[in-house]
Amino acid sequence: MKKWVCLPLIGFLSLALSGAAFWPAAAEAAGEVNLYSYRQPFLIKPLLDEFTKRTGIKVNVVFADKGVIEQIKARPGAADAVLTEDFGRLHDLQTANLLETVRSRTLEANVPSKYRHPDGLWYGLTVRGRVLWVSKDRVKPGEIGSYEDLTDPKWKGRICTRSGKHVYNLLLLASVIAHKGEVAAKEWLEGLRANLAQKPQGNDRSQAKSIQAGQCDVALGNTYYVGKMLTEKKNPEQKQWAEAIRLVFPNQKDRGTHVNVSGAGLVKGVKNRENAVKLIEFLSGDFAQKLYADQNYEYPVKPGVPLNDLLKSWGEFKADDINLAKLAEHRVAASRLVDRVNFDNPSIRN
Ligand code: FE
Repeated sequence: MKKWVCLPLIGFLSLALSGAAFWPAAAEAAGEVNLYSYRQPFLIKPLLDEFTKRTGIKVNVVFADKGVIEQIKARPGAADAVLTEDFGRLHDLQTANLLETVRSRTLEANVPSKYRHPDGLWYGLTVRGRVLWVSKDRVKPGEIGSYEDLTDPKWKGRICTRSGKHVYNLLLLASVIAHKGEVAAKEWLEGLRANLAQKPQGNDRSQAKSIQAGQCDVALGNTYYVGKMLTEKKNPEQKQWAEAIRLVFPNQKDRGTHVNVSGAGLVKGVKNRENAVKLIEFLSGDFAQKLYADQNYEYPVKPGVPLNDLLKSWGEFKADDINLAKLAEHRVAASRLVDRVNFDNPSIRN
C-alpha cells in the first residue's frame, strides 16, 4: 500500500529537491495539471488517482517540503496549483505574491468563508484544532478548559510544548493577539513560559511522550497527531504516548478552539487554469473530503461530511470563527513576542 511511488515520480522528487525540477514538456498540453504538493504522497495519491479517473485529467505532481517558493519564482508558469499541509505556507505564498485569485461557486459553497481568503487567493481543505493534551492520570476532566488557564500558577512546572517559533504555535499566539490585543498576549505568553516544565523542544508528538513519561501534565498539540500516534505502525510506542493523554478542546465557553487548515491555491501565471480549478474543487467535494480526513485524522472543511469513528469519539467542538487571513496579519507580531519574552529559553527551576 505504501509502495505506490512510481519511478518517474521519484525522479521528479529528487529533481525538485536538487532545485532543477521538473515536469515533462507535454505537461502544458490540455488534459493535464501541474501540482506542487507539500502534502505527503500517501495522502494525496489516492485522491489524485480518483480525480484522474473521474475527469481524465492527468496530474503531474512534485512532492516537496521546502524551497517551493524559490522554485515557483525560478520557473514561472511551470506549476499550476500548490497544496500545502499548513495555512502558514499558503500565507507565505500569498505574501510572496505567487497566488492567483480563484472564483468558484463550488469552492465558495464547500469551503466556509472563515477558511478561505476573502479574494479567493487560497482555500482551506482540511481543519485541525490546536488543542490541549492532558494526562489521563494526573489531570481531572474539567480541570483545565482554556488557553488562558495555561497561565494559572497551579500548572507551574507542568506544561510542555514545542518551540514558540513553530508555525502552529505562532498562529495560536496570533489568535490570542487578534482576540485580546498585543499587551494581553504578551502577558499570556509570559504566564505560559513561567509554567513550562522544560525548554520548548521536539515536535507535537514528543509532547505526548513527555506526558506519558511523567515530565509534564499538559501540552499543546494538533488533533490529527493523536489519530496518527494511535495507528502508528513503524513506532508502536507512540500508541502508548497517545493512550496516556486526553484531548481538551479549549475555550468552548467563549471564542472557540483555535484551528488551522491545510489548503490549496492557484499559482500566479497558471497555464492549465480550468483543470487546476477543477482539481481544487474536487478536493473540496464529498469524496475527497471524507478520504482526506479519514487518512490523516483531520476534520473535513466542508460542512456535513461524516466524521470517522475516532474523530467522533473526541466529541463535537466549537472552532474559533475568526478568518485565518485576519490571524495571518498578526504572525509577525507573534514572532516578535516569542523573541521578546525569550519564550524558548525559560528559566526552569526544579
Ligand atoms: Fe503537522
